[in-house]
Amino acid sequence: MVSIHNSQQLHSRSIKSIPGGVNSPVRAFKAVGGSPLYISKASGCYLWDADGNKYIDFIGSWGPMIVGHAEPSIVHAIKKTAESGSSFGVSTELEIDLAEEIKQRMPSIELVRFVNSGTEAVMSAIRLARAYTGWDKIVKFDGGYHGHCDSFLVAAGSGGATLGLPDSPGVTAGSSQDTLIATFNDIKSVHDLFFRSGDQIAAVVIEPVAGNMGVIPPEMGFLNEIRKLCDHHGTLLIFDEVMTGFRVAKGGAQELYGVKPDLTMLGKIIGGGLPVGAFGGRKEIMEQLAPLGAVYQAGTLSGNPLAMAAGLATLKLLTDSAYRKLESNSSNLERGIAEEISQVGCTGVVNRVGSMLTLFFSEHPIRNFSDAKKSDHALFSQFFREMLNQGTLLPPSGYESWFISLAHEDETINETLKSIRSALRNVSSNTPL
Ligand code: PLP
Repeated sequence: MVSIHNSQQLHSRSIKSIPGGVNSPVRAFKAVGGSPLYISKASGCYLWDADGNKYIDFIGSWGPMIVGHAEPSIVHAIKKTAESGSSFGVSTELEIDLAEEIKQRMPSIELVRFVNSGTEAVMSAIRLARAYTGWDKIVKFDGGYHGHCDSFLVAAGSGGATLGLPDSPGVTAGSSQDTLIATFNDIKSVHDLFFRSGDQIAAVVIEPVAGNMGVIPPEMGFLNEIRKLCDHHGTLLIFDEVMTGFRVAKGGAQELYGVKPDLTMLGKIIGGGLPVGAFGGRKEIMEQLAPLGAVYQAGTLSGNPLAMAAGLATLKLLTDSAYRKLESNSSNLERGIAEEISQVGCTGVVNRVGSMLTLFFSEHPIRNFSDAKKSDHALFSQFFREMLNQGTLLPPSGYESWFISLAHEDETINETLKSIRSALRNVSSNTPL
């Protein structure tokens, strides 16, 4: 067992000042038990905790760290920008540079606005969709997470599922009454909602690759069918690419699956590890935003120069060859896990799209949230703890994606696979699999 004495002491101190000791619930490690870690430094694909233990990191700050931690060119960009001032409340050229880079990679985005988090991007995009269409209802998918704004804390996947709080107290019936829930990979469920409320649905909001019920790829034609339904009813199609944007492909999931949304929400990677979000899309919709239009949306720190600089430096590293490397490292990991599972003789399913991957302890394919819920989460918790003891930090819940970065070289993947082999053996000796 690794000693995490200093982390435990920090946690005892933290709970006196911060609710539950954490600033985002999943950091409490509740789903997997044990005391949460406190991190003191990171480099490449490694993290060191407050006790000096070193871990191979597959959390990757939940997505942003696609090129690895403390990557020198990003550190340099942040330092250089900070030396000229960290926030002005007046526009900078860096905002235009990042907006142009995003538009070039995602042609569906004609205009883009920066905000400070994915949640803020979602909140703003929904307001805009409602104003543009004049309708109130929004379709989301069971287990899809779109940040913590009220109208989306319904059937909201990972964090909520982990804590057993699918609907949060404090969300009024009024704020969620216009949220309709469909089932991922089940086009009939979307048809049914349109049949009942088709003349009032402002937007269908979807993670094109589900990442918050564990990774679940869209089945062939699913996104296309939704696009057709939206076109037929005059409803906007909104892709939440906060997680998938610039991760699953150079132009995000919309490039990978060839489906063009009306609006896209972004975050994580475009801030290179600094707080950021963005939403963008068709010009005629985005022009409804103030100061051009009447839809109000604003932010003191929006387009913050440090975040813009870190985002630009990150995207600069995400070249075609970088995506090829991510794909090859990630597919090696996927193949290796599948082999280890079959060698140990346990039942598991690996879902992967690009550098997002989840191992579900399940006998059946995982196509939607209800499948994900049926996988063996108690076994995942044991597996998580075994992996931690062997120096690999996985996301602390079976409903999350593991994030592979450019810093996870062949050697690290092989080391991870060795830990997986031994962790699977240990959990299978404790539990009949
Ligand atoms: N949308 C998706 C798909 C996400 O995964 C997340 C966060 O994990 C969000 C929105 C919310 O982003 P943030 O945590 O930056 O508010």
